[in-house]
Amino acid sequence: MNGPVVIVGGGVTGLLLAAELGLAGVPAVVLETRTEIAEHSNGMALHGRSLEFLRQRGLADEITAAGIFPWPRTPFAFLWLDLTGADERDHTYAFPQWRLEKILERRAVALGTDLRRGHTVVALDNGPDRATLTVLADGAEYRVEADYVVGCDGEDSVVRRLAGIPFDDGGIDSSYYGVLGDVAFPDGKYPEFAAGLHPNGMFGALPLQAGMLRLMTIQFDAKRPGDDVPVTADELRGAIRRVTDTDPDIGEVRWLSRFGGPTRVAETYRRDRVFLAGDAAHVLYISGTQGLNLGIQDAANLGWKLAAAVKGWAPAGLLDTYHAERHAAGERARTHALAQIALMHPLERVGPLRDMLGHIVGFADVNRHMLKKATAARYAMPGRDDHSLLGEQIGERPLSTPEGETSMAAVLAGGRGVLVDFSGGTVGNEARAWSDRVRIVEARPVVEFGGDGVLVRPDGYVAWVGGEGLLDALRVWFGGFSAGVL
Ligand SMILES: Cc1cc2nc3c(=O)[nH]c(=O)nc-3n(C[C@H](O)[C@H](O)[C@H](O)COP(=O)(O)OP(=O)(O)OC[C@H]3O[C@@H](n4cnc5c(N)ncnc54)[C@H](O)[C@@H]3O)c2cc1C
Repeated sequence: MNGPVVIVGGGVTGLLLAAELGLAGVPAVVLETRTEIAEHSNGMALHGRSLEFLRQRGLADEITAAGIFPWPRTPFAFLWLDLTGADERDHTYAFPQWRLEKILERRAVALGTDLRRGHTVVALDNGPDRATLTVLADGAEYRVEADYVVGCDGEDSVVRRLAGIPFDDGGIDSSYYGVLGDVAFPDGKYPEFAAGLHPNGMFGALPLQAGMLRLMTIQFDAKRPGDDVPVTADELRGAIRRVTDTDPDIGEVRWLSRFGGPTRVAETYRRDRVFLAGDAAHVLYISGTQGLNLGIQDAANLGWKLAAAVKGWAPAGLLDTYHAERHAAGERARTHALAQIALMHPLERVGPLRDMLGHIVGFADVNRHMLKKATAARYAMPGRDDHSLLGEQIGERPLSTPEGETSMAAVLAGGRGVLVDFSGGTVGNEARAWSDRVRIVEARPVVEFGGDGVLVRPDGYVAWVGGEGLLDALRVWFGGFSAGVL
């Protein structure tokens, strides 16, 4: 059995990548060990910028209908960043990961993905012309050949290991031990959204939905029990007692999970025909709510580039920009995570520094900068770099077209690049030879962009804004022009 792209792992990253490939007309095979999506999950927070991308794929209504609410504040080493008055895209929203997996699974399958649950990858040959995977399903092995394999198989990625890609902690001890329980508290036992740092670690009680809280501890100097030891309510109770020095009432336990380990980023996100995305590429200390959100951005970045390569129009070097852009984002997230750990432990030593920094993040500009830093990526765009939008996610922008009012999200929903022409046709004419890959939309900006047009990549990042350099930007991201459409 063959497929142009085979994705190993059907978590959020793998399912979103499959949906992106399906949208671009390159349905993938997804091999996933789990036979179904369990209705509980570690991840619970989605960033505004992830939501922005999902809105550009028409998924926002489904997410809203499933129940999503903004957090009142967001943690940086438990120095709280204020979200009052912050841009929507800088917010953090509560939305359980498993709900997102269900939405993405439906979309990926509807777009033609061959999703194989109960199929586990056990071997990989990363050959010069094809990659070959050995898969175990129903007690028997079979082989799959692919032009490209993407390891979206999580922290303990088999693909990463078999491709020989190093995944180390950079020589910094960043390990921690966490335990959590999702518990029912019909009488609202803990105050809403309570989380704080104590000498022995962190304890948080975070609302998941009406009557349900997540109780969670993080400790830096306690040993994590082995995976063969089942996690119990007593382990959670003991951890809360150790951190808070109080005897906790933990309500009615519905789900328990143990987590923690070093913060690590893969040395490379690509080796020949093999790519890594999501936790397979990076695992971070959790309290920046970054892991899942980075995975979403990895999938958004890689999907259209892989589709372009399979369809044969990818310009030279396009696939390598995946590593360049996303590995850099992973490294920034690593710094963010390690900075937080350094600001939390040991508390008696870092306390004075926390006091000072707590004061500094109170300044509105610093608060705004920190909020953006935790969630935003800016990619280097070849050519000019003199516009604040270049390399940034385009954001929610209304547009007025001859056909009526619309938005950037709506024109990006087809998953193609978009050139919005504010010049009344001149800019659009220049790009007409790319119209099989780039949608050209004549519009009037409702909010000023500062240019006579804007070129947006399929992942929502701005590649060009007005003035010189449109043809260069088109060539860099969308290849040579196609004479057939002239
Ligand atoms: C307590 C906790 C709280 C967190 N909270 C947040 C948060 O609020 N926000 C946030 O952004 N992140 C959060 N994270 C991180 C987030 O959960 C992960 O980053 C996210 O799960 C990564 O998604 P993924 O799809 O890359 O990997 P995974 O979710 O790990 O999915 C990998 C998939 O691959 C499958 N697989 C593995 N090996 C194979 C194989 N050999 N063959 C076939 N299939 C295989 C697995 O079954 C799994 O389904 C949290 C993490 C923890 C531990």
